[in-house]
Amino acid sequence: MSTTTNTAQANSKGSTYRQMLIDGKWCDAISGKRLAVINPATEEVIGEVAYGGREETKRAIESAAKAMTTWMKLTAWDRAKVLKKTAELMRERADDLAKTLTMEQGKPFPEARGEIMHSADTFEWFAEEGKRAYGQVIPNSVAGKRHMTIKHPIGVVAAIGPWNFPVTLQVRKIAPALAVGCTIVCKPASQTPLSLIKIFDCLLDAGLPPGVANFVIGPAREVADEFIKNHTVRKISFTGSTEVGKELMRAAADQVKRLSLELGGHAPFIVFPDADPEVVAKAAVLGKFRNNGQVCISPSRFFVHKDIHKKFTEVAVESARNLKLGNGLEAGIEIGPMFEKKAMDNTIDLVADATAKGSTLLTGGNRSSRFDKGYFFEPTVLCNVSPDAKLLTEEPFAPVMPILDFSKMDEVIAAANNTRYGLAAYVFTNDLSVAWKMAEGIEAGIIGINDPVPATPQCPFGGMKESGLGRELAHEGLEAYLETKYVSFMLRG
Ligand code: NAP
Repeated sequence: MSTTTNTAQANSKGSTYRQMLIDGKWCDAISGKRLAVINPATEEVIGEVAYGGREETKRAIESAAKAMTTWMKLTAWDRAKVLKKTAELMRERADDLAKTLTMEQGKPFPEARGEIMHSADTFEWFAEEGKRAYGQVIPNSVAGKRHMTIKHPIGVVAAIGPWNFPVTLQVRKIAPALAVGCTIVCKPASQTPLSLIKIFDCLLDAGLPPGVANFVIGPAREVADEFIKNHTVRKISFTGSTEVGKELMRAAADQVKRLSLELGGHAPFIVFPDADPEVVAKAAVLGKFRNNGQVCISPSRFFVHKDIHKKFTEVAVESARNLKLGNGLEAGIEIGPMFEKKAMDNTIDLVADATAKGSTLLTGGNRSSRFDKGYFFEPTVLCNVSPDAKLLTEEPFAPVMPILDFSKMDEVIAAANNTRYGLAAYVFTNDLSVAWKMAEGIEAGIIGINDPVPATPQCPFGGMKESGLGRELAHEGLEAYLETKYVSFMLRG
């Protein structure tokens, strides 16, 4: 494996070439293979990354194990200094990081900048929370005995992340793992490695010792198979589709490997008749079309009370039509391209399936004809959607808003829960009793009451049912990287 200490090199086409990070050194793939990264707004190659495989993954795991022997012995205060410095560097470099994120993922620059700032906050929050990995002293029932628990870092962690929030969703793993003394090997989604590599630059510049955080990229099954089979890896933290999550869960059983799973969602967005339909419809459109609906907590089934359904629908259609679509690097753009052609083609199929089953298309429904290049899809609103439309039965991950109606609370709770997913839900009402009953009745790990953007570092994030296992963020997200050791003492005399 050839290595170099350069953090970035320009290749012959002028785009950037970046390497994997193993044991504090930037490395080419042993095979010399590279993978091109495409800008979904222009379909142009914007960079290349070294594309390794099992052997590089094995070396990264070894280096993480070696580094953990000293990293775990540092005090939480010393580890926190590195994490807080990382947050500071991310904020200083936010414009550059956000530009890279927009170019590889497609989301508009202000949203990309928001992702970077949220991720910096996550580093800072876990730097502090790492100091609160408390055990307990437990009262004894037998005279002369004393009991306590202490917390122990779980070991080497393997992190696999998706392309829709390539920075935030890895930072939710890196920050708590490092804060408690674990070390980590990260594998990003193949199509969006560049912004995460720049976060690794920040970690190194903040003084992170070699091997504490490693970055590998290669064929997903091969890299994941090494994570699964290698006994040194004690935990796999995965964010991605429910199907891949289930595969990992089955495979991890062999070594009883610890798992955190952040999987798919199909969030209901429920509007009661006392809510202002105009205000809520505008909020609904912003929430729905953010990142083109390619968000695990994106609202994707809109249940609007029949008394306000008409007004809500009119405003939603008008707002969706007025959204400014274009290259996310241009000022004023509200919606970028979809992430890849496959995602856009899938959206076309979802709309065709819904209309074939009787849905009324109110706006959108097609690839935008205004662009020669890029995966731009018109924000789409439908009503009269049949319950068996794929849009309602499968996670859509698309800029499509199906508006349904309801008249009774029990009926809407049953409809909202009629899915294998249970990640997020949104409820709009001014009635405290309705809000409380909905929070109790809805099967979802995250519930926004009049709040379309609930995620924040200090609150738990994760799903019920097939949306996942465990929670990220908050103290629960720290505990996910800790084992509890119970220690019992028999005193003398
Ligand atoms: P995905 O296809 O499951 O891929 C996610 C990651 O897993 C990528 O790094 C991918 O690598 C890797 N991967 C693919 N096949 C694998 C396999 N057989 N074994 C191990 N790893 C494998 O998901 P995606 O399309 O990137 O992301 C969208 C999904 O993620 C949606 O379902 C969404 O709801 C979910 N998501 C959940 C959350 C949450 O917090 N709950 C947040 C965001 C997204 P390659 O890129 O190299 O194929």
